Amino acid sequence: MARYRGPVCRLCRREGMKLFLKGERCHSEKCAIEKRNFVPGQHGKDRKSKLVGYGLQLREKQKMRRVYGLLETQFRNGFEKAAHQKGITGENLFAGLERRLDNVIYRMGLGTSRAQARQIVRHGHIQVNGRKVNIPSFQVKIGDEVAVREVSKNNPTILAARDATAHAPSPGWMEGDRENLRGKITGLPKRDELIQIPINEQLIVELYSK
Ligand code: SF4
Repeated sequence: MARYRGPVCRLCRREGMKLFLKGERCHSEKCAIEKRNFVPGQHGKDRKSKLVGYGLQLREKQKMRRVYGLLETQFRNGFEKAAHQKGITGENLFAGLERRLDNVIYRMGLGTSRAQARQIVRHGHIQVNGRKVNIPSFQVKIGDEVAVREVSKNNPTILAARDATAHAPSPGWMEGDRENLRGKITGLPKRDELIQIPINEQLIVELYSK
């Protein structure tokens, strides 16, 4: 599946906040939001318009889509799926995105960003319930055991990511065993521990429901 390949710090600057798309750099003073927190482009510094209505809804959608690294079609498909499930659509949307295998690897601390976690999955380093899975959008379910494959246990990228994220706890819906590069899904993602970035998913529901 296609993915965004352009400059990523620009995306944060467009949203006016850190979206944590680049791993360790996001926590350093090199972060573009620390240095140039204004909209990219020639007139970026002059643009101070107040967002209302559609503009506000669009920005929320773009923010969420960019955090999880999806293109519009993939994101829209995820929304349609969430809208057809029981429960609150916005929460279903969040849960569906969190249960993607690339996000799970990121949450387990085996990738410093979702983009890096996605690459780790794509390169065939991950197994689910003992079987290799290289599809980043694969949806994990309760009881699944996710692990780095035996042949990849000395992969320097994965080991470096584990060390760099040692301070970050795994979310409550999984049991992480970082030492052994594995984890188990024990529940469904809960809205309040889903994301460190403020997103109002209700605005996204309103945008797509027009
Ligand atoms: Fe770039 Fe990360 Fe800072 Fe965003 S948060 S601007 S991706 S360094």
